[in-house]
Amino acid sequence: MTATVFDELVGQADAIETLRAAALSANALLAGTNSHAGAMTHAWLFTGPAGSGRSTAARAFAAALQCVRGGIGCGECSGCHTTLGGTHADVRFVVPEGLSIPVALMRELVMRAASAPTAGRWQVLVVEDADRLTEAAANALLKAVEEPPARTVFLLCAPSTHPDDISITIRSRCRSVPLRQPPAAAVAELLTRRDGLAPETAVWAAAAAQGHVGRARRLAGDAQARARREAVLAVPRQLTTIGACFDAAAALIEAAEAEAADAVAALDATERSALEMALGAGGTGKGAAGAARGSAGQLKDLEKRQKSRATRAQRDALDRALMDLAGFYRDVLNTQFGRTVSPIHLDASPVAEAAAARWKPEATLRRLEAILACREAIDANVKPKIAVEAMMLALWKG
Ligand SMILES: [Zn+2]
Repeated sequence: MTATVFDELVGQADAIETLRAAALSANALLAGTNSHAGAMTHAWLFTGPAGSGRSTAARAFAAALQCVRGGIGCGECSGCHTTLGGTHADVRFVVPEGLSIPVALMRELVMRAASAPTAGRWQVLVVEDADRLTEAAANALLKAVEEPPARTVFLLCAPSTHPDDISITIRSRCRSVPLRQPPAAAVAELLTRRDGLAPETAVWAAAAAQGHVGRARRLAGDAQARARREAVLAVPRQLTTIGACFDAAAALIEAAEAEAADAVAALDATERSALEMALGAGGTGKGAAGAARGSAGQLKDLEKRQKSRATRAQRDALDRALMDLAGFYRDVLNTQFGRTVSPIHLDASPVAEAAAARWKPEATLRRLEAILACREAIDANVKPKIAVEAMMLALWKG
C-alpha cells in the first residue's frame, strides 16, 4: 500500500477506515458527485487515552480533507503538506497551553472558521483537548457546531465522551471516532520503521511508554527522560521509613517541577521579549511613562497565561511519573498472577519479581489503588504535595 497521511496513526484500523471513507465522501461533495454520500459530516469527536493519537488522527483527517489528489491524503501534495506542517490557510489548530481554553479565543476562531475557504476546499478547526474548554467557550463552539457553515468542519479531541470531558449537547452533534491504546508491538513497529530505532530499544520504549507513541520516542531518544523514569522506578525500594516517604514525595514533586520548568522556559522567554519589543520597552521619550502603565497590564496578562501553562506542564509531568510508578506495581501484580500479559518495565523485571515474592497480591493491589487515588485527587485539585505524600505512605504500608 502507498504511504498516506494515516500511516502515523498506530493500531487504529477501524478509525482509519472511517476517516478515509469520510475524506473521499467530502471530496465527492466538492466535486458534485455523490458516490460516497453519508460518510462525511461537519463535526467529529476523537476520543481515546493520552498518547493514543487523538490529535494525530485529527491532523491526518484535516490533511485528507485538504488533499488536492482526490481527498486520499497522499501526504505529498500542497494541501496535505501544509496541513501537516500547520501552515494551511484554511486549517486552524487550537492547542490550549494553560488549564483552559478562553471564550474570547474560541469566539474569534469560530468566526474565522465560518469564512469561505481560500483554497476552495474546507475550513477546518481542530480543537485539541476540547475537555479544557471553559463553559462559555463550549457554548460559543456549540452554536457553530449546531449550525455549521456549508464548508466548515470541526474536529474535536477529548479523552472520552464522558460529560466531564465534553458536554452532552456538543457530543450529540458530533460523529465519534474512538481510538484505543495502541498495542506496544504496533508502537515498536512504528519507532523502528519511522524513526530508525534498533528493534530492541523500540520494544523496550514502547512497553515502558504504555502505548503512548510520543512518550516512547522521548524515552528512546532523550537521556534526561530516561533518567527521570529510572528515579521514579527506584521509589518503591526507597520507602523504608516515614521520613523516606516524605523525602520521596518531595523528590517526585521537585522532579516534576524541574521538568515542567525546562519544558516552558524557552517559550516563556521568547514570548516575554517579543511582547517587550512590541511595547517598546526601555523607551525614554515623551509618552513613555503612559505607555509603560498600559504595558504593565499586558505583561501581567502574559505572566498569568505563562503561570497557567507552567501549572499544566507540572501536572502532566507528575502524571507521567505516576503512570510509570503504577506500571511497576502492575508488573508486580502480573507476576503474582502468573504473567498473563507482558511486563511494562522490561528493565525492572528482577525488582518486580523480588517484590512479587515478598508481598501479598492484596497488598500490591492496594498500592496500585493508592496511585490511582492520588491521580484522581490531583485531578480534583487536591494539592499535589498532599496527595503524593498520602500515596507514598500507602505504598510503604501496602
Ligand atoms: Zn495530498
